[in-house]
Amino acid sequence: MTYKCKSVGIIGAGIQGTCIGLQLIKKGIPVTIFDKNDPGKMTSYGNAGHFSPYAVLQLNRPDVLYDVPKMLFSSYGPLALKWNYIPKMIPWIFRYLKSCNKKSMMHTAKYMHQILNLSMDAYEEIFQEIDVTNLVERKGIIYIWTKDNLKSRKLEIKVRDKLGIKQKLLTQDEILDLEPNLNRVFHEGILYEDAIHARDPYGITTKIFEQYIKRGGKFIKAKVKSLKQTNETETLIKTDTEEYRFEKSVIACGAFSKLLTDQLSEHIPLDTERGYHVHFKNMEHLIKRPVIFLDRGFGMTPMNQGLRAVGTVELGGLKNPPSKKRIDYIVRCAQELLPQLGKHEDEWLGFRPTLPDFLPVMGPSLKNKNIIYAFGHHHLGWTLGAITGKIISGIVTEEKTNLDLSPYSSSRFN
Ligand SMILES: Cc1cc2nc3c(=O)[nH]c(=O)nc-3n(C[C@H](O)[C@H](O)[C@H](O)COP(=O)(O)OP(=O)(O)OC[C@H]3O[C@@H](n4cnc5c(N)ncnc54)[C@H](O)[C@@H]3O)c2cc1C
Repeated sequence: MTYKCKSVGIIGAGIQGTCIGLQLIKKGIPVTIFDKNDPGKMTSYGNAGHFSPYAVLQLNRPDVLYDVPKMLFSSYGPLALKWNYIPKMIPWIFRYLKSCNKKSMMHTAKYMHQILNLSMDAYEEIFQEIDVTNLVERKGIIYIWTKDNLKSRKLEIKVRDKLGIKQKLLTQDEILDLEPNLNRVFHEGILYEDAIHARDPYGITTKIFEQYIKRGGKFIKAKVKSLKQTNETETLIKTDTEEYRFEKSVIACGAFSKLLTDQLSEHIPLDTERGYHVHFKNMEHLIKRPVIFLDRGFGMTPMNQGLRAVGTVELGGLKNPPSKKRIDYIVRCAQELLPQLGKHEDEWLGFRPTLPDFLPVMGPSLKNKNIIYAFGHHHLGWTLGAITGKIISGIVTEEKTNLDLSPYSSSRFN
């Protein structure tokens, strides 16, 4: 007899939670999503909107590690620390240092590639169901760099070539032909011709959520205080005021997931890489497609809200206030590339959910098999939303898969 799950509770209505909810409800399973905020209002709200299936190499790399001291001691660098948080982050930093070698880097690249490679087909399927007019643009994505950055770029190009990823190297002049407003402060770059971007990530998450509700999904706006598996066929979700029982539950709380996994006596080293954005209103016409300046760890995306300038990595946890210096850094980077930019608006801080080996956690809890994890998608959680929905719904319904899901298990931290 085939197994049919009777009910699922999902904690978190970011891009992961809404995509998981939609896939499960399509399988005819009753689903309730919980979120302390309105759907799509946390990190999935303010990201750069790039769908980046090519971005297989992450930050656990020897060359990045080599650059860290220089980045930290520069007042104009892409990496910053909130010193009061660093003692709490030491275990994460240790594990990160351990995974900054060529073997771990290639392991991450291989298993990021496995899911990134399927990410766009999974979205295209969703885009057949929701109206994405004026929400998705198909004009490619450009990365640029200076001569200071050639070693890291050569490594990335080589790895992507090895994995068969399509990339087009461009000279400065070729880039200026595509984006004539850019200042000549870079040396060369790459165009991902087939890449697409969101003109409003929040608008897309909202459409997916609406589709989930239309198909019969439920939503409860409440903070989940605790979660446990009570027996073989039941999990219990508690909010401040109520208790809810489901056969299975999914944790999809992004960077906040650790608050729940710690309760399950699994010490998963999830932390956050904080990132910021600002908008330059009515300036989105200055570029046709996203442009990312790799030396600066920052990029600009033309969006419905204006030109969104996004970036930096700040290690500082979930509770520290936003840093004015990081916002100033992004504004200066944007004005370096587009000197015509004036005043900015809408300063925003988001929390990338990141494991030290830069692979997400997707799979059942080690001690509670009816609780399933779906978090830790770091810089690529927007790109990976739709495929995560498919993978997690398959795990919930115990379907067979050809994918090797073992590298995403939380058991790797035991
Ligand atoms: C500056 C920046 C730029 C980025 N750019 C890109 C990009 O261009 N491309 C890309 O692929 N990725 C990008 N990312 C990464 C991407 O945005 C994230 O990985 C992704 O949004 C994470 O989605 P999520 O659903 O896991 O988490 P979230 O969007 O944070 O959603 C988690 C949800 O859980 C809820 N929640 C948490 N705890 C509880 C609780 N106890 N009870 C109830 N609800 C709870 C929260 O309210 C939230 O709604 C970027 C990130 C940042 C910060």
